Amino acid sequence: MIVYGPVLSWRFGRSLGIDLIQPPKTCTLDCIYCQLGQTQHKICSRNEFSRRIDIRVLEDELNEKIECVDVDVITLSGSGEPTLNPQLGEVIDVVRGSVKKPLIILTNSSLLIDVAEDLRKLDLVEAKLDAVTQDTFVSVNRPCEYMRIHEIKESIKNIRAHLSIQSMFFRHEGGVPLMREFSEYICYLKELKPLRVDVNTPWRPPQNSEVEPLREQELSEICEKIRNEGIDARYYKESDISHSKKLNIDELIEILSRRPLRMPDIAKLTGLSGDDVLEFLNKLSKEYNIKSIFYQGEMFYRV
Ligand code: SF4
Repeated sequence: MIVYGPVLSWRFGRSLGIDLIQPPKTCTLDCIYCQLGQTQHKICSRNEFSRRIDIRVLEDELNEKIECVDVDVITLSGSGEPTLNPQLGEVIDVVRGSVKKPLIILTNSSLLIDVAEDLRKLDLVEAKLDAVTQDTFVSVNRPCEYMRIHEIKESIKNIRAHLSIQSMFFRHEGGVPLMREFSEYICYLKELKPLRVDVNTPWRPPQNSEVEPLREQELSEICEKIRNEGIDARYYKESDISHSKKLNIDELIEILSRRPLRMPDIAKLTGLSGDDVLEFLNKLSKEYNIKSIFYQGEMFYRV
């Protein structure tokens, strides 16, 4: 499927996703906290990306979904870094022509120079920034060899699009990587003046099991420090995800194939009681490969 969801996003509400990459996961980075697991194809440029999506199929799937589900936004994202796909501009035009909903992209910022013109056509570019020094960039995001964080920071500054920043704060090897360079990070944000900073922490199982989420109090303090510099910032708890319509089995399986969920989340999404969720998952596991993962004292499920 090229079009998936809707998935429930704490930032954007009910979001219909467009997967420009398609499995296996292909990315320019291999972040230690990634919830999609290890990067199977790590490539450094758009020229190396040979997969193509069928634009006619995209249009059909989009029209079909839009007819039967109510969504707040359309999100370009998927199984890796969406800007790798050279069809990005064409996809933006097709979606713009088919759906009157805000169109946003979640990008890891590594290829912004190559796609700046296309990104200016979007309602929002949510750009990742987890490090401001090369050492932290390398240890957290594990980029392609030649990538330099100072060039990425410059490219974010020059994007001239509606821009928000997403940064991952987490504990690893006794410290919080981005907090070690927090004053430099704040200086950069003050120059950049993004519309908002989304302060993230890995609530779901990351690929490196030694990565731990921060406490809510810590996230709140980080947001406060950013806001004190005149920049809007927010964080979320996993339980903040809200939804108005119960998902059917296909929609739930779609979400579970893209992100792990806890039993209470599945209960909320389906409208089932906690006890019934286990029975429901048991039944589904005969047809789908549902795995359970224990992380931070909680059980997560994914397909
Ligand atoms: S950029 Fe996104 S998809 Fe790529 S490794 Fe990092 S978190 Fe995963």
